[in-house]
Amino acid sequence: FITLGIESSCDETSVAVIADGTVIRSNIISSQLEQHAKFGGVVPEIAARCHLEAVLPIYRLALAEAGITLEEVDLIAATYGPGLIGSLLVGLSFAKGLALAKKIPFIGVNHIEGHIYANILERPEVKPPLVCLTVSGGHTDLLYLEKWGSYRILGRTRDDAAGEAFDKVARVLGLGYPGGPQIDRIAREAADDLEFVQPKGFGGNYDFSFSGLKTAVINYLHRQKQLGEAVDSARVAASFQRQAVAQLTSRLFKAVDDLGVRTILLSGGVAANSKLRQVCLAEAERRGIRCLYPPLTLCTDNAAMIAAAGYFRFQSEGPSDLEITAQPDLCL
Ligand code: ATP
Ligand code: MG
Ligand code: FE
Repeated sequence: FITLGIESSCDETSVAVIADGTVIRSNIISSQLEQHAKFGGVVPEIAARCHLEAVLPIYRLALAEAGITLEEVDLIAATYGPGLIGSLLVGLSFAKGLALAKKIPFIGVNHIEGHIYANILERPEVKPPLVCLTVSGGHTDLLYLEKWGSYRILGRTRDDAAGEAFDKVARVLGLGYPGGPQIDRIAREAADDLEFVQPKGFGGNYDFSFSGLKTAVINYLHRQKQLGEAVDSARVAASFQRQAVAQLTSRLFKAVDDLGVRTILLSGGVAANSKLRQVCLAEAERRGIRCLYPPLTLCTDNAAMIAAAGYFRFQSEGPSDLEITAQPDLCL
């Protein structure tokens, strides 16, 4: 069973071909990083235009690399939200066009659900019940999955997303966009002994907050400047990263202990973070449970994860109506 996946929610145009929901035959990802770098963030109008230019050649490459034609595709899955409206519309319209022209079943996919399914690509043995920490550029959700496709939200961010905080701190440190990978890189060998600030927690639930931590970093940098003191960027980055990761893992493992689950998944771009992976592995090992995360290239946006999520939803619910439209604020 062949699924063609299409992703265009933000600044990556991606088309993938997967077999039986978990086997990657091709996964072509075209990033617009260079087009947005000089603006320090994604410019929606530019993103939409880049998707328009990229989608057809990327689609052809994905089919060619998988060695198939459109006639062999059994299902077309495309992201319909959340994301930038202009970006979403390009991939979604393209997917619907193919589906309509060739009478192939179509399914709309929630991008965040896609990030979660990145964990079962090439690893079909992963099974709920489990707790999943979804940490990306726009989302920070702690989820309990009793079975695939059903999500209980245990906690989420009250302000900035984790990835957003990494990007903003990187920006004030002059590290460029996207900042998460840069912070990760320069933090590796650095001291992480600066104390910023941690939210106290929200009455025993699992919510997150990153704006106080981000502001504390900014205030520290201002103070150093006023005092005429030098700033050790690597030390600031490492200290910020340690505290961001501590907040994520404290909520995650409280939930794991409270619910008694034996499997943890990390998903989304921040799941690429080496410190987060390291702390999660150590904490999981201490409890004798499993912590899994996707390989680096599948943590950030890609179409293989969209195809996987689409495949499994199609098995349980059948196709989507071709009338479905882009939903920028779509929730899980
Ligand atoms: P969303 O999925 O919420 O719609 P998005 O698609 O923009 O948002 P992703 O592609 O999942 O987000 O992830 C991008 C984010 O991941 C960016 O904020 C980036 O800085 C962050 N990120 C990527 N690699 C790392 C890393 N090694 N350490 C920390 N953050 C990282
Ligand atoms: Mg991106
Ligand atoms: Fe994403």
